[in-house]
Amino acid sequence: MKVLIVGSGGREHAIAAGVAKNSKVEKMYCAPGNAGIAEYAECVPIGAMEFEKLVAFAKEQSVDLVIVGMDDPLVGGLVDELEAVGIRAFGPRKNAAILEGSKAFSKDLMKKYNIPTAGYENFEDPQEALEYLETAKFPIVLKADGLALGKGVLICNTLEEAKAGVQSIMLDKKFGSAGNTMVVEEFMTGREVSVLSFVDGKTIRTMTSAQDHKRAKDGDQGLNTGGMGTFSPSPFYTREVEEFCNKYVYQTTVDAMSAEGREFKGIIFFGLMLTSEGPKVLEYNARFGDPEAQVVLPRMKTDLIDVIEACIDGTLDQIELEFEDNAAVCVVLASDGYPEAYEKGLPITGFEEFKKHDGYYCFHAGTKFDGDQIVTNGGRVLGVTAKGADLKEARKNAYAATEWIQFDNKYMRHDIGKAIDEA
Ligand code: ATP
Repeated sequence: MKVLIVGSGGREHAIAAGVAKNSKVEKMYCAPGNAGIAEYAECVPIGAMEFEKLVAFAKEQSVDLVIVGMDDPLVGGLVDELEAVGIRAFGPRKNAAILEGSKAFSKDLMKKYNIPTAGYENFEDPQEALEYLETAKFPIVLKADGLALGKGVLICNTLEEAKAGVQSIMLDKKFGSAGNTMVVEEFMTGREVSVLSFVDGKTIRTMTSAQDHKRAKDGDQGLNTGGMGTFSPSPFYTREVEEFCNKYVYQTTVDAMSAEGREFKGIIFFGLMLTSEGPKVLEYNARFGDPEAQVVLPRMKTDLIDVIEACIDGTLDQIELEFEDNAAVCVVLASDGYPEAYEKGLPITGFEEFKKHDGYYCFHAGTKFDGDQIVTNGGRVLGVTAKGADLKEARKNAYAATEWIQFDNKYMRHDIGKAIDEA
């Protein structure tokens, strides 16, 4: 079997490591990939949004399965284009990827099908949004409707901040057409938990839970990032929370998408907030979270290719997902300065240590080869994941492993998993 993975981050590295375990896979490609993924896959220099080239490559190489890791190509309809020429692809079609691609759509869906979420209004007219905000309760949350690299969400404490937000999202178009529509949402407080799931259009199988750290600096300070670290499972995702979501969130979402004529096959990522009124959906994503995939997939015992094929074939009801009864923590090693300006091209050393220890992983995010040397090539450079019998041990192991890696402007948070101590 020949597999092509589309993407270039730590998530795609974790997917590649999972795919590599299946003995049916005789050849793996990744477009565009990175220096770490190159251990498993032949990296081809085609961008994730170059649909024509991707489809042509998959045809030429007789690829049997394409796994689309990233949000942009899913929302743009890459799966539809691959399917149109008879290539099996994993991920939602364009009409279902809208679950992530439009926050206004996902909020309307939740409202229509009584899926618990924060109160909200959608606006297409900035003037109407401003009038609404005049009488609103603060803090309040403004969200650009479309994809904005995780940066299109503004939490506003005052009317002045909200006015500036409307200006930047809807008028200055800071996030481009993603800001043509804006969601104004009630501010919620509580712990955040991420739950990933496999979906085959009808059946949903949730994975073990995880918790992300979005801010750049310790103590949840600094700018929002793609994610600075994560741990799994979340001790706050209790049996009670799970039962509530099984009843009101997970299957309801899958059924709602089908009822809307938007059958969803692929990964649904549920961003949940555990509020005093119960769990509420913060957001949906239509793909694995990154770095969540870097703690969830290493703990998955079920074969990744088997589950992916069951999602495509609509036979997920025949699969029970199994996870190891342990924990994992991922600490992201970033380039100092991220998410703003940072230097690239700095040599990285220490990878060999990971080969010597079971249960330790170094997932590449922003790396590339410079000759034989692996160098930094992005803001988030590596995800260092370690397992442990419990979360505390996994955290100790992960931080110990961050010392194995050296590069000049290495930066990390030192409090990934601090919430574990409060559980
Ligand atoms: P990403 O793509 O990085 O997952 P996103 O742009 O889709 O992010 P959201 O996940 O919807 O954005 O929001 C980002 C963060 O903003 C959330 O993780 C949460 O911390 C905060 N947030 C979003 N909505 C609310 C809300 N209603 N109340 C309080 N905080 C919120």
